[in-house]
Amino acid sequence: MEIPSQVLSRRVPCPACSQVPLLFVSCSSCNSTFAWCGEEDHAIGIYDGIDLRELGLGDTPEWAREGCPVCKAESMGYSTREQVEGLGFSAADIYPKAGS
Ligand SMILES: [Zn+2]
Ligand SMILES: [Zn+2]
Repeated sequence: MEIPSQVLSRRVPCPACSQVPLLFVSCSSCNSTFAWCGEEDHAIGIYDGIDLRELGLGDTPEWAREGCPVCKAESMGYSTREQVEGLGFSAADIYPKAGS
C-alpha cells in the first residue's frame, strides 16, 4: 500500500478526548475513510462525505486491529490527500496544509 508522505488529520480535535486532531485513515480495498484518534488509538467513525458517522468512542474496537469494518480487508492505511479531498474536505480543513 502506498504510504503518503504526510499523515493527514482534521483541524477539529477528537470528540472523545479533545486533545488531538482526528487522523484520516482509509481502506485501500473499498476506499472507505475513517476518523481515528491518534492519541488514544481508538476509532471514532466513518466518513460519509464530510459527515462523520460514529462507530465507537473509547477503547480501540476489534475492527481497528482486524481490518476494515466495511469490507473486512486488512488494507487500512493513512489516507492520501486525494482521498480526503475526494470526500469534500477543503484544504483549510486538512492539517498539515498542502506543500507545508
Ligand atoms: Zn481521542
Ligand atoms: Zn474496506
